[in-house]
Amino acid sequence: MTLTSKLPQVGTTIFTQMSSLAAQYEAINLSQGFPDFSADHALLERASHAILHGNNQYAPMIGLPILREAIQNLIARYYGRQVDVEKEITVTSGASEAIFDGITALVRPDDEVILFDPAYDLYEPAVMLAGGVCKRVVLTAPDFRPDWSQFAALVTNKTRLVLINTPHNPTGTCWQTEDLEQLWQVIKDKNINVLSDEVYEFIHYQTQSVSVHRHDQLAQRSMVVSSFGKSFHLTGWKVGYVVAPEIITRELRKLHQYITFSTATPFQQAIGEHLLDTPRASGELSPFYQNKRDILRSALAASRFQLLPCQGTYFQLLDYSEISDLDDVAFCHYLVKEIGVAAIPISVFYQNPPVEQRLIRLCFAKDETTLLAAAQKLAQL
Ligand code: PMP
Ligand code: GLN
Repeated sequence: MTLTSKLPQVGTTIFTQMSSLAAQYEAINLSQGFPDFSADHALLERASHAILHGNNQYAPMIGLPILREAIQNLIARYYGRQVDVEKEITVTSGASEAIFDGITALVRPDDEVILFDPAYDLYEPAVMLAGGVCKRVVLTAPDFRPDWSQFAALVTNKTRLVLINTPHNPTGTCWQTEDLEQLWQVIKDKNINVLSDEVYEFIHYQTQSVSVHRHDQLAQRSMVVSSFGKSFHLTGWKVGYVVAPEIITRELRKLHQYITFSTATPFQQAIGEHLLDTPRASGELSPFYQNKRDILRSALAASRFQLLPCQGTYFQLLDYSEISDLDDVAFCHYLVKEIGVAAIPISVFYQNPPVEQRLIRLCFAKDETTLLAAAQKLAQL
């Protein structure tokens, strides 16, 4: 049998690779982004109650009403934006599915999609499967700010979609309000849509998060994607959502209804009830993670790693150029095998990684003991 791959250049994701190596070498796993502590017990109880009391059949295709109502409230409270619960909110199986639906619904063969490197790994394969072509704005250390003139120069009459991500994985950078305005100024007179990946929307260490939800005009062109995996420490539940104007939502639901049809009912029920009963200030998540970030940063402060700024997400970038000349993939293999800590190399998120860059990413969504144990090992270097 011959099988011609549709994605010949795609291998196994770096997250799977590094987590497997961490298990194999019994290393502390600060690579793949997931918490090593439990979610709120009350929320877990609700899921178990939902399973035991019959919420086990297909949910409505667009999401359980209770969860969509909770999402509507969350967006109104946090951003002051009113969105239509029937026509603009779709619950998906993680943000991953929402991103895939959105790209597949909008991108046609030969359309151009602009993204910002380093870019989260699922964007490009989704664009390629749709027949689209990725164009890249390169973000450079240490601040990884977008250069808007470089962006404007990439826009052509084939540009269909722009993929943005703030707070940004893997760099931990947050965009400023002016960035959204600059983006808007370039695309406003063109038939270009935006997919804004805001899965870390509640994890930011500056006074106000920047979201497309707060930019009225941009919001009318955009799909805004989020994930309860990040907001409730439940990455394995894979409950995400996408908010988009009706005209876009109609199209992306055509994908959603055939890719998954609907998302796990008991988890939707549990999160919906929990959000409505305990409308926690979503702002609680930032101080919680800021504390973890600071524990890791202080524990590494005297080491030979240079700590880059971290304004959001639960990822910290480290520059190891004083320690080693290895490239970042080789350095991460060395760390996991010899030092006992698994990390993520940054070069894999670029089409053309900056040659001199020596950066790795650590996930600090971990208990204090895990962070301190990892830092102690890294500080020996
Ligand atoms: N986008 C970014 C930037 C992410 O970091 C992640 C996940 N970790 C996702 C999307 C996917 O989220 P989910 O697990 O809800 O599919
Ligand atoms: N988003 C997670 C990270 O950045 C990984 C999710 C996955 O393994 N696909 O680490």
